[in-house]
Order: sequence, then C-alpha cells, then structure tokens
Amino acid sequence: MRITKRSEEAFEKAVHLMPGGVNSPVRAFKSVDVPPVFIQKGKGSHLHDIDGNEYIDYVLGWGPLILGHANDHVISEIQRTASFGTSFGMPTLLENQLAELVIQRVPSVEMVRFVNSGTEATMSALRLARGFTSRDKIVKLEGSYHGHDDALLVKVGSGVATLGLPDSPGVPKSTISNTLVAPYNDLEAIKALFQTYPGEIAAVIVEPVAGNMGVIPPLKGFLEGLRTLTKDDGALLIFDEVMSGFRVGYYSAQGYYNVLPDLTCLGKVIGGGVPVGAYGGRKDIMEHIAPAGSVYQAGTLSGNPIAMSAGVATLSQLTEKDYRYFETLGDALEKGILSLSALYDVPVTINRAGSMIGLFFNEGPVTNYAQSKASDTLFFADYYKEMINRGILLPPSQFEGIFLSTTHTLEDIERTLDAMEASFKALKSR
Ligand code: PMP
Repeated sequence: MRITKRSEEAFEKAVHLMPGGVNSPVRAFKSVDVPPVFIQKGKGSHLHDIDGNEYIDYVLGWGPLILGHANDHVISEIQRTASFGTSFGMPTLLENQLAELVIQRVPSVEMVRFVNSGTEATMSALRLARGFTSRDKIVKLEGSYHGHDDALLVKVGSGVATLGLPDSPGVPKSTISNTLVAPYNDLEAIKALFQTYPGEIAAVIVEPVAGNMGVIPPLKGFLEGLRTLTKDDGALLIFDEVMSGFRVGYYSAQGYYNVLPDLTCLGKVIGGGVPVGAYGGRKDIMEHIAPAGSVYQAGTLSGNPIAMSAGVATLSQLTEKDYRYFETLGDALEKGILSLSALYDVPVTINRAGSMIGLFFNEGPVTNYAQSKASDTLFFADYYKEMINRGILLPPSQFEGIFLSTTHTLEDIERTLDAMEASFKALKSR
C-alpha cells in the first residue's frame, strides 16, 4: 500500500500557510478526495514523492515537460545560463534565439512578445486585438480556460469546473460585459453572435484543441469556419495554444489542422518547465505593441534568460519523429483502454490529439462542455484513488487532459493499462 504520511503532514502545514495549502487550485486534489502528493524529484516519465513512492507521471507539470522531467540538456542549459546571472532587464541573445525558433515553428507567427505565463499571454493578446480593431467585444467558448484574466473568467473549465465553482467573485460585471460566450464546436452559435453584433467583436479566442474540459478536438470544419467568420467581419482569430502549442504537432495545432489565426498565445512547452508565456502573430498587428506601437504591455522578468534557455533547449530537441512516437504511444494507450472498457463494462470516451488525451467516463461523444460535464465524476474520483495507489499519477480532475512525453515508453503504457485493469476490477467488485 502507498504510504502518504509525509505528504499528509506537509499538506496539513501548508493549509495554514497558503490558501487551500497550494499555489494553484487543482493541486489540492479536492475533487478526487486524495491528499496531494508532495514531489521530491522527477526523471523522464517518473516522479518520486517525499514518502518515497514512485509514479508514472501523466501530469508533466500540467503540460510543459514534453521531454519528461529533468531532461539532461534542459537542466544543463538552465545551470549554465544561471551561472552568468538570473535576470538583467536588458536584451539577451537568448531572446532572439527563442523568438526565431517560435517564428520558424508556429506557422502564423511572424513576430512574438515573451511574457511570464499563459494568463499574461491571453490577457495581452486580447488587449492587442481590442487596440488593433478599436472594438471591445470578445467571444470565448464555454468550458475553455485561458488563464485567470478577469475578462476571460466566464463559463470556464479547468480548476473552476473541477471545483464546481461559479464564475469568480471579484470580477466586476463591467469587466465581463463585453465577453460573449458560445458552446465549443458550435459554429452556428458563433455566427449568431456576429449577426447580433456586426462590426463590434474584436476577436474570437479559442483553444484549437480544447484542453480544459478534458480534451476536445475541433470538429471537422470548426476552425475553418471560425477563420471565415472572423475574417468576414474584420475580427481577429486568436488561437490559445498555451496547451496545444508544440504538443498537438511539430507545428502546433495550427500546423496540424492547417488553419492560421491572426494571433497565437503560447506558454507551457516553450518554457520547458520554467515560467513563461508568449503571444505572437501577424507582424502588422504585433507592431501595435509598445514600443513599436501604442498598445501597452511590459514585464520586469519578461524574456528572462533562464526561461529562454529552457525554452531553446526544449524546442531545439523536439523532432517530427517525436510526434510520430506520440501517435504510437497514444494509440497503444487508447486501444488498451477501449478493450478494458469493453471487458469490464465501464463506458468511456477517449479524445486524442497528438500527446493530449482526454478520458471521459461517459458514453460519448464528447464534443462540448455540456457533454464533458455529463461524465461520471464520482466514478472518476474512485478510479483516481485506485490508480494513484498503483503508482499512476493522473491529473486529479475529470476535466484535465493526460499528457505524454518523449520519455514515456510502451512499457510505461503497459504498466498503466495493468493498473487500470486492476482498478476496474476492484471498482466493479465493490
Ligand atoms: N490557456 C490555456 C489553454 C491553458 O491551458 C492555460 C493553463 N492551463 C492558460 C491559458 C493559463 O496559463 P498559465 O497557467 O501559465 O497562466
């Protein structure tokens, strides 16, 4: 049996020091009713907690660690960079290097600005879209999460969905009065918003693969339809690729689906596990950002050398072959889960896009937030406990995706499926 004594003691202490004992809500493991694990170290696809338990990790720092934990080259570049100093507030060559890599790799990005988190990226991209178009309204989709910017904290997924919270207190009505919402994958609803507010919508912001209500890929024609609707109205299309960027494909989701937005938000993978975010896009739009233009956005630590070096070390190691490998791993996991689902009569739906995988305890299909929310979250919580006790660390929420890294092996997948079989068996014999 897994021993959790040290983690439990640490968490008891933490709840007196930090709200809920954590610095980001889902980490408290509340919806699965398991004490959070305090991590000691990670290597590749494996993590060790402070009680000495070892896990195969599918959280991967919530997405950034596409090369697995403590990748040798990433760590040595971070160490080398840090030895020269941690922050200068002046330009460094590393910023040029990471900017070049991002621009080469993300098809629609001609110019980029680095920030410190995904939240900053989406917040700044919205300001830019509003400044560029001189319009105020924005469209976001139900169950998407774009960070905790006030204007976007409406009908959100991720931790808000996990904890079953209402849209957040503290967000003034006036701040969200220009935020319009439509269901994911529902072009007609978005078309209706453009018909109601012609010439008033600055941008549609969308996760090209939704990853904060479980994983929901775009239905055929959805992204293309958004491209046409926005273009016809003079609005901008913003892809929030904070999660899908460099994860769904070598050229990110926009390369994978071949639909080019005007602006793209990035984070997670491009910082290799160090705090970072970025937004970029068409040069004529990006040049509206100060000091090239008048839309203001700044940051003391933006372009931080340690973050830039971790990003360069991560992106420069990724190859197209890695994305084919994710297909192999993802396919094996998916097939294995489906056969266990049939064998033990546990209804599941699996949505997969590259190394992002959504497993819903739900007959399916799951193509929007309402369908995702219809999943059996109580069964998920029980399943979660079984899996973590068998050394499989999954995101502690039905509404978060599973991630793969280049260091996961077919043996990891086999062990995961064995744990799943034992878990299903245990749950079915209750
Ligand atoms: N956008 C998306 C699609 C995300 O998944 C997230 C975080 N999970 C964010 C934005 C916010 O990023 P951060 O947590 O770095 O602020």
